[in-house]
Amino acid sequence: MQPKTTPAKKTESKKSADESADTTAASKRRQPVKLLRGMKDILPEQQNYRHAVQKALEDIAVSYSYQRIDTPILEFASLFSKSLGQTTDVVDKEMYVFEDKSGDKVSLRPEFTAGIARAYIEHGMLNRTQPVKLFTTGQLFRHDRPQAGRYRQFNQIDCEIIGGRAPIIDAELIVVAHSLLKELGVNSTVRINSIGSEEDREQYINELVSYLKNNRRKLSEESKKRLTKNPLRVLDSKDEQDQLVIAEAPQIVDWLSEDSKNYFITVLEYLDDIGIPYVLEPTLVRGLDYYNDIVFELYDENEVQGSQSALAGGGRYDGLIELLGGQPAGACGFAIGIERLILAMKANRIGFSEAYIPDVFLAQLGKSAQKYSLGLMERLRGDGFKVRANLVKGSLSAQLKAANKIGSRFTLIIGQKELLDGTIIMRDMESGSQEIIDIKKISDELKKRLQKEPDELIPKVIGPQDEPVELENEDPRKPGNQNRNKNQNQNQNQEVKTTQDKDTGKKKSK
Ligand code: AMP
Repeated sequence: MQPKTTPAKKTESKKSADESADTTAASKRRQPVKLLRGMKDILPEQQNYRHAVQKALEDIAVSYSYQRIDTPILEFASLFSKSLGQTTDVVDKEMYVFEDKSGDKVSLRPEFTAGIARAYIEHGMLNRTQPVKLFTTGQLFRHDRPQAGRYRQFNQIDCEIIGGRAPIIDAELIVVAHSLLKELGVNSTVRINSIGSEEDREQYINELVSYLKNNRRKLSEESKKRLTKNPLRVLDSKDEQDQLVIAEAPQIVDWLSEDSKNYFITVLEYLDDIGIPYVLEPTLVRGLDYYNDIVFELYDENEVQGSQSALAGGGRYDGLIELLGGQPAGACGFAIGIERLILAMKANRIGFSEAYIPDVFLAQLGKSAQKYSLGLMERLRGDGFKVRANLVKGSLSAQLKAANKIGSRFTLIIGQKELLDGTIIMRDMESGSQEIIDIKKISDELKKRLQKEPDELIPKVIGPQDEPVELENEDPRKPGNQNRNKNQNQNQNQEVKTTQDKDTGKKKSK
């Protein structure tokens, strides 16, 4: 029998239940809110790689006369399903789709090409001088399984040439992608294929399907699904069993029309002429519906075969503009994943010299000096110096410690006495020597001593003697990462490569 609860006991047990509810609520309140899975904060110290990527992109884009375009992050979901194809993984599984407050079915953009193609049509860009060359960067969203180099929010560089079909356009685009990676210290190899016209592909797919059906039992479960939904995508499979089947599969090059074949050969000839390294990849199809003819991907040349993921991918999409309601216009483009590019830069030991290290640290003692320092900082910045201060730090020794930590070359010290005298103490942080300088002459004196140009973010290959570069999100124990680390060690023993020597060459005074 259940013991009867007396009224007093009831109140007690209610009280303890309330208390435990309170503690749960309190502990829930104390639990820090976490980042969403697959998302990533980009901390201040990680920004220099991104700045370098942006800068290299802008330099190259300008020299090849690309113009920047920015399209919204949010678009009608139908834009992507129509462009990329309903049965592609990106549309079928990975899009962030929702109904907005007006009841429209919208999606966070999973890629750039469709939005740029829409903008080309919507803004009548057909009336501009053709082809139109556009570039952009920004965030994209795919609800994929997160892993090293694969996030749910990531960034791409994207370049598109719309309004032209000629092999030289494809070749130029590949050159731009290759040069951009090279500029950032990553030598890449192009893997290239032609998937022909829609008609070529139709015939090929029939052949491929009948071959794959005959070998169905050898295929992975995922490939069996793809066989019915999107058979070309079976060729993208990395599964070892599938690979054996794919190796014997019919190849699309044998189904290319004369036009597509000649187009492909001419693009390759251009690449030969320019000296861009490429390999023919008969199974490369890039799985999106809008592609035709040339498709390509760029891989880090130093990565060991097998553990690789593409740094960039692109191709021709001559039917997309018409499909989205525009006048027929040939087009092609590529995208580089910025996070993967940064990982590759780090794996290739690309670091930065002098980036963000201030020229001077301003230390002050006393209220009036602190007040004066604000104006002085502005003056020094105006004269082109990178200045740091920590206006809340109290003692001189704490401020000197901070200056040491951030590595500034000089520290300027100003206290009550210096304020009255119109002087400032300049401390050389390397030698520890100090001089008293007329405050009016401070910029000239600094210029003389620093003898350098204003800050520029220049990627350089850092040598074995430098700090080891930490690979973001890379756990060396994870499969696939060992090779990269091995590779990194090899690089450490090699002679240091130099992509640009601009950083060491410049020694002009400001
Ligand atoms: P795609 O748009 O799929 O052709 O991808 C072009 C490039 O974007 C790839 O080569 C990667 O460098 C990068 N990329 C694609 N998906 C992701 C992702 N989920 N996370 C990070 N980078 C990605």
